[in-house]
Amino acid sequence: MKIKKRLLAEATRFKTPYYVINGNLKGKKVMITAGVHGKEIASILAAKRLVSLLKKNKLRIENGTLIIVPIVNRRAFKRRIRGIPDLNRTFPRKWKNKERHPLSASLFRLAKQYKPSWYVDLHEANGLSKINPKVLGQTLIVNPKSKAIPAIKRIAAHLNHSIDQNSRHFTVRMRNLPGSGRHAAYHLLKAKAVTVETCWSLPMSTRVNFQLNILDRILDEANLIKRGSIVKAAKIIK
Ligand SMILES: [Zn+2]
Repeated sequence: MKIKKRLLAEATRFKTPYYVINGNLKGKKVMITAGVHGKEIASILAAKRLVSLLKKNKLRIENGTLIIVPIVNRRAFKRRIRGIPDLNRTFPRKWKNKERHPLSASLFRLAKQYKPSWYVDLHEANGLSKINPKVLGQTLIVNPKSKAIPAIKRIAAHLNHSIDQNSRHFTVRMRNLPGSGRHAAYHLLKAKAVTVETCWSLPMSTRVNFQLNILDRILDEANLIKRGSIVKAAKIIK
């Protein structure tokens, strides 16, 4: 396994590290992004944890390639704000679109370079979707015709099985959101694209564990790791 650290948006004030981890054998490519919104802390902590486990060799990528951008918008993260403008509305909607923001432009270029099978964008949101269908906390969001739907439904079902409180169960949402990273990855790159949203009023460790659990399942679906490797390495107690 090889880990390379590089810089995204290198020539700009938005520069931020990303990591490319190659397994020993060829396989699928998965891209994980966190911190597109700077105040969605658990998603950033989960992505950083994943990088740290890989660096310490506590977790190994068996096959394929993992690309992780742990804090996309570092300037927004420093101030613990969502970010102005909302970066998740600045991704290209069509191939011929002009660049709207240096970060979304370079992130999309990176995705285009690797053409990942899976594009996983980690976020956090308000509320519990199981109780209130209008909120996005505890949801997995995919585009309505996405190839990711069967796997994501499977992942939600498995995950919910291990969550005692029914109110904290994840629901699967299907929606288009032009301008978002997920929509661009789905629509333009034909990736299995998913947005993960944990509820930010739950305890931090619970939210980070949900995020890591979901990544464990997705990376298993893509055959990059054996199921349970992240959960085991991060010592998550179910
Ligand atoms: Zn968000």
